[in-house]
Amino acid sequence: KLEGHVAVITGSTSGIGQALASALAEQGVNVVLNGLGDPAKIEADRQALQARTNAAVRYHPADMTRPEEIKDLIAYAVREFGRLDILVNNAGIQHVAAVDEFPEEKWDALIAVILTSTFHASRAAIPIMKAQGRGRIINIASAHGLVASPFKAPYVAAKFGVVGFTKGLAVELARTGITANAICPGYVKTPLIEAQIVDQAKTRGIPEDRVMEDVILAAQPTKKFVEYEHLAGMLLYLASDVGASATGAALSVDGGWTAT
Ligand code: NAD
Repeated sequence: KLEGHVAVITGSTSGIGQALASALAEQGVNVVLNGLGDPAKIEADRQALQARTNAAVRYHPADMTRPEEIKDLIAYAVREFGRLDILVNNAGIQHVAAVDEFPEEKWDALIAVILTSTFHASRAAIPIMKAQGRGRIINIASAHGLVASPFKAPYVAAKFGVVGFTKGLAVELARTGITANAICPGYVKTPLIEAQIVDQAKTRGIPEDRVMEDVILAAQPTKKFVEYEHLAGMLLYLASDVGASATGAALSVDGGWTAT
């Protein structure tokens, strides 16, 4: 039973993070949302999630490039709820370009938001989880944490880093009651990807379903997007008591992508 547990989900104002936060709140987990975006929309989403679940839902605006703010995000969860059971490191950004043309500041931003924030949030959460004798650190990596694609080398580097960090955490924490795992999604139809489908269909002059199958899902044997519920199912498993022996794993939820 996850009811009454407390979770922090970074980057949960949109896409996967928002869906995972909703799935946790639906189980009665009190959640701290985080992420960028229009404050009025964030507040409306927060209230809506709280109204339709039994969970208390809070929001903290920590910027994942700022270590002090990340520490305050974790401290805020404890101030509000008195404990922290689940940390989901999900915030992420993408930039697609050849390495020799990749803006230097985009490399720094990608590594900061994806990899370094995972270190800072975990570092702040571990003492709290150790004191409780139980904790769950769940990092949203990617199929790109296991295999590469062209023009995404910095993203691939950051996600491989997340997978490596997860394994290091897991072996270090193995006797503390804290598990650490990475979920490695294939393509998920988030707002970001939906916009890409429309753009590509226009520029290539082909229907949107062909863009999905031939361009975006070229690497994904199922030729279907991974759905939010499929990631939420893995998250709830890892967060629950029956997930206690799963630690240090990079769990693919990718429609067969990394099997090829
Ligand atoms: P998204 O753009 O919809 O959401 C990203 C979230 O991160 C947003 O809430 C955003 O505000 C937040 N964020 C970005 N920069 C931040 C910062 N500096 N500080 C705080 N929050 C910040 O993207 P998504 O597709 O839902 O991606 C979520 C995670 O899943 C990312 O780590 C991404 O790499 C990973 N992922 C996505 C896919 C996919 O197909 N969409 C596949 C594999 C992995």
